[in-house]
Amino acid sequence: METSSVNSSFFICLLLIAGFSEPVESQSSCPEPETRCGNLRVRFPFRIIGRQPEVCGYPGFGLQCSAANHPVFELPRSVKLNVKHIDYTSQIIQLYDPYGCLSLHFPNLTLPPPPPFQLKASSSYFDLHDYDDDFTIFNCSQLKNSNKVVKFITTCLSSSTYQVYAISSGTPIGQIPLLSCTKVFNISSVTAKIFRADYTIHLKWSNPMCKRCESTGRRCGFRNRSISLETACFEIDSSNKFLTIGLTAGSFLLAAIIVAIHYIFNSYKSHKESQEIVDKFLKDYAELRPTRYSYAEIKRITNQFKDKLGEGSFGTVFKGNISSEFQVAVKILSDSIIGNGEEFIIEIGMMAKVHHVNITRLVGFCAQGFRRALVYEYLPNGSLQNFINSLGQRKNFISWTQLQEIALGIAKGIEYLHHGCEKRILHFDIKPHNVLLDSDFTPKISDFGLAKLCSKNQSVVSMTNARGTFGYMAPEMFFRNFGNVSHKADVYSFGMLLLEMIGGRRITNDAEEEAAHIYYPKWIHDVLEGRKDLRIHEDEEDAMIAKKLGIVGLWCIQWHAVDRPSMQVVVQMLEGQEGKLPIPPNPFDSEGPSTSNRANVPARHVMQGLEIIQEAE
Ligand code: ATP
Repeated sequence: METSSVNSSFFICLLLIAGFSEPVESQSSCPEPETRCGNLRVRFPFRIIGRQPEVCGYPGFGLQCSAANHPVFELPRSVKLNVKHIDYTSQIIQLYDPYGCLSLHFPNLTLPPPPPFQLKASSSYFDLHDYDDDFTIFNCSQLKNSNKVVKFITTCLSSSTYQVYAISSGTPIGQIPLLSCTKVFNISSVTAKIFRADYTIHLKWSNPMCKRCESTGRRCGFRNRSISLETACFEIDSSNKFLTIGLTAGSFLLAAIIVAIHYIFNSYKSHKESQEIVDKFLKDYAELRPTRYSYAEIKRITNQFKDKLGEGSFGTVFKGNISSEFQVAVKILSDSIIGNGEEFIIEIGMMAKVHHVNITRLVGFCAQGFRRALVYEYLPNGSLQNFINSLGQRKNFISWTQLQEIALGIAKGIEYLHHGCEKRILHFDIKPHNVLLDSDFTPKISDFGLAKLCSKNQSVVSMTNARGTFGYMAPEMFFRNFGNVSHKADVYSFGMLLLEMIGGRRITNDAEEEAAHIYYPKWIHDVLEGRKDLRIHEDEEDAMIAKKLGIVGLWCIQWHAVDRPSMQVVVQMLEGQEGKLPIPPNPFDSEGPSTSNRANVPARHVMQGLEIIQEAE
């Protein structure tokens, strides 16, 4: 069921409720709003004179209740007729003459001006063959039967010695035996049926107008009889109140049932859709391939992008759930990336083939219209940056052993990218931000948006755009005289990451030094050559680990790519003993950067055009 149909159901319910809960006057001032005379129910605008006060009935609508319990309506000129029925909704009262001699009253049957009543004598109350006529009533001592005379014997007026006839005005005068008859009176424009003993006349009243009130089950009455004859609509008895309450409650119940059905239906639909997402995911997950999601599914997974994890250069990352057990991080790529779609296609193509314990797994993606999203496994401990940027602070503290494990994991992940895949993958943006930690602090390299596929036997890649983050970028990414760009650029970045890990652990009281963010490579050389203290305040074993990470880091950041070890060698170095590692040459003694503050370049992405470097070595 769509939302709109529920809304319309609500609307109908509200209308129902509104219809039955229309404000009504509290109570009529009539003490007995309805009474009975015989079988007849008498209520406003009628009242029983003598039984109900004037406030109960409209002027001119008084009835009498005879001793024999017959309701009697007195018309002007003392014409008293019995009431057969009152239809309060149609506003019609049916009257008959108890002596079956209605015709006798007709000469007097004129209704007072302005007439609240009209004689309802339209053909709808009569036979179709009926028509109105003028009649003359004759009292005849003898009237021979003649087929030519249109006559109606008015039995009620006749006696044994004479008969009273109603003769149609259309009868030729010569045919009427006038000598034996005397004219009694004329009646104009009536049906011949009035001469029947059981004839009933219908009087319709137009004022007061209580039709609508009556048709909704309520009762008419004076709003305030002492001021005017204005009428109002009342709830006159509790049964009606109960009816109204019942209908209102019923409407609410109906609304509640509709909402409940909608809720159940939606939950079922939502459950079914979620199940489909899970099934699709599990199937693809088992087959080690990313699932393609629609944008609607991405919205469902992220619960309408409710939980934002952060924002990077390529888009915003939201937390999501594939199922209650499997959480994901969904990166919605920004429009600038979608523009050429290159980064997106690269990332999908590569990550679909990358499966390693130290690489963030891509579990799905979305490519619908201009919308692009990447769905990764969720890594609850966030990025490594959170654990190494707290200079000297013990916040987010992880042990040196753990740091060593993390360094080794990252190294293995990069080694896998360089040597373990069908095609060599260069990351080009290795840095603490792009290393995420799972619940066991296992490091996972993320963000392959900057990586480029590179054939295994081709160790150099052309760069038309410099990509990466200053401070972690190898010199050859900036300067041609440092050689071509290759997988060793990632080795350099990893070395900087190692030095950052150790440097972040330094304990210093030197505010100036802290503010200046000293250049870690030089500082590590100084430490290794005994010119400076390690200042990590840990035990001997921790100091050994720190020194080992420092030595490996320094090897990785050699100026010339050829001097840097491959990631396979780096892994071996990290797995080996600290004491057996040779200390690399110190570039700060001879060549290298003249300033010790080189690394103090703010980490930021660059996407600037560079000269094309030849791909051959
Ligand atoms: P940049 O894109 O500039 O390198 P970044 O790496 O921090 O910056 P993103 O990779 O977009 O940017 O990540 C944004 C935020 O989302 C970061 O805080 C990151 O820790 C978090 N994040 C990204 N992927 C995941 C994930 N798989 N699990 C948990 N958190 C994640």
